[in-house]
Amino acid sequence: MLAPLILAASRSDKMRSFVSAAPGTKQVVDRFIAGESVDDVVPVIEDAAAKGLEVTLDVVGEDITTPEQASAARDAYLELVGRLKELGLGTRAEMSVKLSMFGQALEGGHELALANVRPVVEAAAAIGTTVTLDAEDHTTLDSMFAIHEELRKDFPQTGCVIQAYLFRTEDDARRLAAAGSRVRIVKGAYKEPAEVAFQDKAEIDKAYVRITRILMEGDGYPMIGSHDPRLISIAQELARRAGRKLDEYEFQMLYGIRSDEHLRLAAEGHRMRVYTAYGTDWYGYFMRRLAEKPANLLFFGRSILTKN
Ligand SMILES: Cc1cc2nc3c(=O)[nH]c(=O)nc-3n(C[C@H](O)[C@H](O)[C@H](O)COP(=O)(O)OP(=O)(O)OC[C@H]3O[C@@H](n4cnc5c(N)ncnc54)[C@H](O)[C@@H]3O)c2cc1C
Repeated sequence: MLAPLILAASRSDKMRSFVSAAPGTKQVVDRFIAGESVDDVVPVIEDAAAKGLEVTLDVVGEDITTPEQASAARDAYLELVGRLKELGLGTRAEMSVKLSMFGQALEGGHELALANVRPVVEAAAAIGTTVTLDAEDHTTLDSMFAIHEELRKDFPQTGCVIQAYLFRTEDDARRLAAAGSRVRIVKGAYKEPAEVAFQDKAEIDKAYVRITRILMEGDGYPMIGSHDPRLISIAQELARRAGRKLDEYEFQMLYGIRSDEHLRLAAEGHRMRVYTAYGTDWYGYFMRRLAEKPANLLFFGRSILTKN
């Protein structure tokens, strides 16, 4: 019941101002956001590497309104690649990008987003790492998949994300698996209408299993993005049945969520990648994390009240 309301609030400027200014917000945001700058996130990457974990880095921000902001997003990622190069961390850290932050929703946005993301993908490849295109709301996906296909002509390691809650996703999974892509499968975090997406959790979980099977049996590299223990063990079993070795797929979870599981899976010999978000424009990312678990909202509400 609460999740759709929170997701609707994630698009509201009024709520953005209220939440951003609330006294207890920072404490809760810090759980999910690794810092504000590249300098803040470097120790987090080093700590993850020391624990045998890999990371995918997300400079938070989306729904930008000017081409200048899109260029700034590109530059923020290029700065990140530069730091990874200096630190020799290129092979342990990849990057996740939201094309909306690269200008996808602006006029001529498809071409603009492609032009802005290409240098980031190029710079990542030059230091031995790669980029994954996150999946946003369903209206953006045809453009995202077309950009993914275009980038893969020169950089076949470029990854993308598919969302189990969408009816279209099994077909997307078949196409991407046959093309040998790196694909992250997630449940889906946006507010989607019943015309395009399953609304029932059990239906979404069943779709997640069907899609994971397609990816495991295909030619690509599956990335299992979930904290759900049942889906994680089903993915392990599907990988075993498909004859995949441990380095032929990976698990991914979000920074700040089920950190004990990150370590457990890594200790079992799995490649475990932590999606690590940082930056100042955290509102949309943060609200999706609140929507995923109502208990987060209670914690958030309590921290606002106790700080007042
Ligand atoms: C690496 C990664 C990348 C992602 N990229 C995208 C993307 O590109 N596009 C997109 O639409 N979605 C993305 N998501 C979000 C995803 O769609 C889900 O919303 C999110 O993963 C929650 O689903 P779940 O599979 O963890 O299962 P759930 O059933 O939601 O959660 C399982 C358990 O995990 C814990 N948990 C899950 N979420 C939270 C939380 N926010 N706070 C505290 N505990 C929590 C709880 O213990 C919960 O019971 C990504 C998720 C991951 C892990």
